[in-house]
Amino acid sequence: MALIVQKYGGTSVGSSERIKHVARRVARWQREGHQLVVVVSAMSGETNRLLALAREIQAHPDPRELDVMVSTGEQVTIALLSMALMDLGLTARSYTGSQVKILTDNAYTKARIVNIDEENIRRDLSEGYIVVVAGFQGVDAAGNITTLGRGGSDTTGVALAAALDADECQIYTDVDGVYTTDPRIVPEARRLKTITFEEMLEMSSLGSKVLQIRSVEFAGKYRVKLRVLSSFEEESVGTLITFEEDGKMEQATISGIAFNHDEAKITILGVPDRPGIAYQILGPVGDAGVDVDMIVQNVGQDGLTDFSFTVHRSDYVRTLEILKPVAAHIKAREVQGGDKIAKVSVVGVGMRSHAGIASTAFRTLAEEGINIQMISTSEIKISVVIDEKYMELAVRVLHKAFGLEQPA
Ligand code: ASP
Ligand code: MG
Repeated sequence: MALIVQKYGGTSVGSSERIKHVARRVARWQREGHQLVVVVSAMSGETNRLLALAREIQAHPDPRELDVMVSTGEQVTIALLSMALMDLGLTARSYTGSQVKILTDNAYTKARIVNIDEENIRRDLSEGYIVVVAGFQGVDAAGNITTLGRGGSDTTGVALAAALDADECQIYTDVDGVYTTDPRIVPEARRLKTITFEEMLEMSSLGSKVLQIRSVEFAGKYRVKLRVLSSFEEESVGTLITFEEDGKMEQATISGIAFNHDEAKITILGVPDRPGIAYQILGPVGDAGVDVDMIVQNVGQDGLTDFSFTVHRSDYVRTLEILKPVAAHIKAREVQGGDKIAKVSVVGVGMRSHAGIASTAFRTLAEEGINIQMISTSEIKISVVIDEKYMELAVRVLHKAFGLEQPA
C-alpha cells in the first residue's frame, strides 16, 4: 500500500463530466489498495474569471480581498470532487487550505507555505477516507486566507506530499509529461521518461510551463518523487522527475530545448569601466523590484565598456525610465533596448561531462544565419538571446542538431 498525492489541474476538472472522470481514476487507485490525497485546482478559466470580476470593481484590487475571492474557485472543485467520489460509493472528505491547515506567511497573492498540519489528513486516511484538498490556498497566522500565486496548486500538491512523506506525487495535467521541446513548434519532440530536478527548473523557468517552478524547487528540497502525467490518457506513465545520482547511466547529454519570449534586452553603451559600475546600474533596478536575468559586460577598452542585461518584458519600459538618470549620472553614452528578442536554451546535465556542446549550438545557429545577441551559460545550460522572429527556427534546428527526436 502506498500513500499517493494526486493533483489535478483546471482542465482536468473543467466540467462535471471531467470531475466524474477524475473520481473514477482516483477510485481505481484506491481499489488497488492505495491511500489517496487529491489536490485540485479551480475549474479551468475560473481563476481568470474571478480576477477579471475583481478588476471590474476595483482597478487595483485589495490583495486581502482578492485572496478571499479567488480562493473560492478551488473550494467549489473540492466539494464537487468529494460528491463525485461519494457517488461512486467511496468515503471522501474535502478540506480548504485553512481547514487542513496549510499555514503560510502573509504575502497575499504570492504566499509561501510555512507549515502543514497533517493530523486531520492522516486520521481520515487511516479511517479509509479519500482526502480532497483545495490547491493554491492557505491561511496566515492571523487567520487570513492567502493564495500561493498562479499555478500554486502544484506547490500545494508537492508540499502535502512532502509533509505526509508520500510515496509519490502525481501531477495530472493536459499534457502527458515533459517534452524535449514544445511539440507545437517541433512535432518530433519526444516525451522524456525522466528529467532531473535541475533540468526541470531550467526548462520551466525558460518557458516550458508544465509545473509551477516553486513546486519543482520544493520537490527538490524535500526529495519528493514527482511525476507529471496526463489526466486524459489512461495508460500514460508521464515523466518522472529524478535526482541526478539516480539515473546517471541512462542520462542523455542534452534533455531539451527551452525558449522564452517574455524578455526584453537593455544595453548601456560607453559605460566608464571602473569598480562599482555594475552596482550603480543594477542597484536601482533591483530596488524597484525588477528581476534581472542575463547580464553581460564586455572587457573595457579605452576605459569604456558596454553593459547589457535582460528583464521581464512587462518591466521593460519601467527599467528604461529607471536607467535614464542613472546613465546620465555615471556619464554613459547611451541607453538602448529592444523587446523583440527571444531566449533559447539548450539544457542537459550531461553537459557537465561533455565538451563541444556550445560549439555545436553556435555552429547550428550560424548555419541558419541567426545572429546571437547575448550568450550565457551554466553547468547545465547554454542560453542565447536572438531576434524573436527566429525563435521557432532556432528551436527546430537545435532540437535536430542534438538528435532529440531519437529515443535516448
Ligand atoms: N487556480 C489557480 C490558477 O489558475 C491555481 C492553479 O490552478 O494551480 O492559477
Ligand atoms: Mg497549472
